[in-house]
Amino acid sequence: MTTDALVAPLGTIAIPARSEMRSMTGVSLGTMHRAGVMLVGSANIDLVVRTRRFPLPGETLQGSEFRTFAGGKGANQAAAIGRLGGRAQLVAKVGVDAFGDQVIASLTACGVGTSFVLRDPIEATGVALITVDEHGQNTIVVAPGTNSLLTASEVRAACSAAEFSVLLAQLEIPLECVLEANHQAGERTFILNPAPARVVPPELLSRVDYLTPNETEAEILTGILPTDTQSCLAAAMILLDKGVQNVLFTLGAQGSFLANAEGGRHFPSIEVDPVDTTGAGDAFNGAFAHLLASGEPVDWCIHLANIAGALSTTKPGAQASMPTLAEVLDRAAR
Ligand code: ADP
Repeated sequence: MTTDALVAPLGTIAIPARSEMRSMTGVSLGTMHRAGVMLVGSANIDLVVRTRRFPLPGETLQGSEFRTFAGGKGANQAAAIGRLGGRAQLVAKVGVDAFGDQVIASLTACGVGTSFVLRDPIEATGVALITVDEHGQNTIVVAPGTNSLLTASEVRAACSAAEFSVLLAQLEIPLECVLEANHQAGERTFILNPAPARVVPPELLSRVDYLTPNETEAEILTGILPTDTQSCLAAAMILLDKGVQNVLFTLGAQGSFLANAEGGRHFPSIEVDPVDTTGAGDAFNGAFAHLLASGEPVDWCIHLANIAGALSTTKPGAQASMPTLAEVLDRAAR
């Protein structure tokens, strides 16, 4: 692959007309009949307090609003698929506690299969303690709880009992579970969302079909922050050289960038007024995996995943803010 082959004009994707879209496969109930997406990942409860400013060490402050949201990257991405009307099953571990019940209730409400959401009788469900100040800045402390107790043999048992065509994993669970998920994917498509940012062993990278880092994660993996075509290409080259089949950077408001042996291409996002960007990457990853599993062309999957990511930022929270297929298609048709 030459660098020349990768240089493509920005934003050249053709968007089908509304009439063409109505007849496309995978944007109707046809989607429901295909084997769906298996997700192996985390499930948490986010405990969010709003406060004027952050407390100093040892200080006690009066906060204002307190809310709980179901979260965790695995659960959020599964919820994104469920909200789009797709088939998603999550392999995860929660506790036998009220937060574990809340995780399962939220997934069920989003239409996600929870038969592989295991429960540990002793350890607590994972939580994220989040403080948000009046400028919208946050500080987060995560107690992974049961997420750390998921084992490779549990992943193996779940994956061998399920029917799926795409496997989607992230890095909020023990690495051996991700390695096992990759092994279980076999000939099926394996998507790794390398979040949160951490170094990924080369033997895993070389077996990834789609790697979907955001800008920060891409910088951790390559030493290059992808901000424009040139830096996207340079960072992608490093990952392609390590054996990744397709690199798909998510670039916030700038959209996303796909690079593979055939070249590289920027896919612009749509314009929105974000109120809460939590879970944008999860909406993108879930939508992309679901549409790919539905047999849609990759360009179309990326275009709609951009829209799903963008729309998710227009509502607070993560799981409940994931857009429906009708909302995504309506925006695509404008
Ligand atoms: P993460 O949440 O993992 O940091 P990104 O911020 O890159 O991920 O967001 C994922 C995708 O969501 C982007 O690739 C883009 O398509 C969409 N997106 C996120 N923020 C915006 C925004 N402000 N405007 C338009 N699209 C956005």
